[in-house]
Amino acid sequence: MFGFTRRSLVFAGLLTAAFAGPVAAEEAKLPVVASFSILGDVVARVGGERVAVTTLVGPNGDAHVWQPKPADARLVAEAKLVVINGFGFEGWMPKLAAAAGGKAPIVVATTGIAPRQAAEDDDHDAGKGHGHDHDKGGHDHGGLDPHAWQSVANVVAYVATIRDGLIAVDPGGRAVYEANAAAYRAELEALDAEVRAAVATIAKEKRRVITSHDAFGWFADAYGVEFLAPQGISTEGEATPKGVAKLIRQIKAEKITAVFVENMTDKRLLDRVAKETGVTIGGELYADALSPKGGPAPTYVDMVRHNVRLLTKAMAGV
Ligand code: ZN
Repeated sequence: MFGFTRRSLVFAGLLTAAFAGPVAAEEAKLPVVASFSILGDVVARVGGERVAVTTLVGPNGDAHVWQPKPADARLVAEAKLVVINGFGFEGWMPKLAAAAGGKAPIVVATTGIAPRQAAEDDDHDAGKGHGHDHDKGGHDHGGLDPHAWQSVANVVAYVATIRDGLIAVDPGGRAVYEANAAAYRAELEALDAEVRAAVATIAKEKRRVITSHDAFGWFADAYGVEFLAPQGISTEGEATPKGVAKLIRQIKAEKITAVFVENMTDKRLLDRVAKETGVTIGGELYADALSPKGGPAPTYVDMVRHNVRLLTKAMAGV
């Protein structure tokens, strides 16, 4: 077709990317902006065909250190609804909303959920701040643990809040939003039961995991798995043999069964940890973002299943 301009071809290409990135909303649909990929998926499930969801921080993105660009302010300005997590996760949102003119209503998905305090200092560490991804990057959660989505029951609450937010800006879609929310809620409740059943297969004393990403406090509280920060391994920079020796001592002393140290990429050091302690080195847990399509965690439900599969496999030592 000779009638296509280069620009319209680019636009058509962008549309096929769905909500995986900052994409122009389709005219007929309600333009909704979600702050990060996990929330974008949840909003898309509740909104269904009526909404065009744009995610600011896309798959594999780090919302903690993200910096909005002028194009993001335009997206927020054009949105009929903005959905954020809250609990201090999106420290950049007030500025972005102001830059966008502050017109679109903002729904905070964690509204009504009793907050959980973040581990301020952990007694497994000599006060160096190691193992605290979230103290890095110059952001501040105000002492709250924002990772509420790691408990599926919280996402059931997100769904109700998002449903009501959508109905408020698009009352004509009430029946659709209510039906979508009810169906998704049933799926999430089954997922929550699935997680409990999976964890129940692991002996209580084996539910002790080390992870460098301090994002599983909500999961720990909800499902009874203990997550400890690694000693000796900084979240910045290379692991040293001395640090690894310290980690090995911790694993033995605390009877840890599984280690997920995402930033520790030196295979020889990981092999040494595994060999000297007998722990299983797990794969990559998804904490704050989905994977791209085709990856192991393209949706929230997939993400929870992926994490639980990895955790239970590592804790069981198989
Ligand atoms: Zn995080």
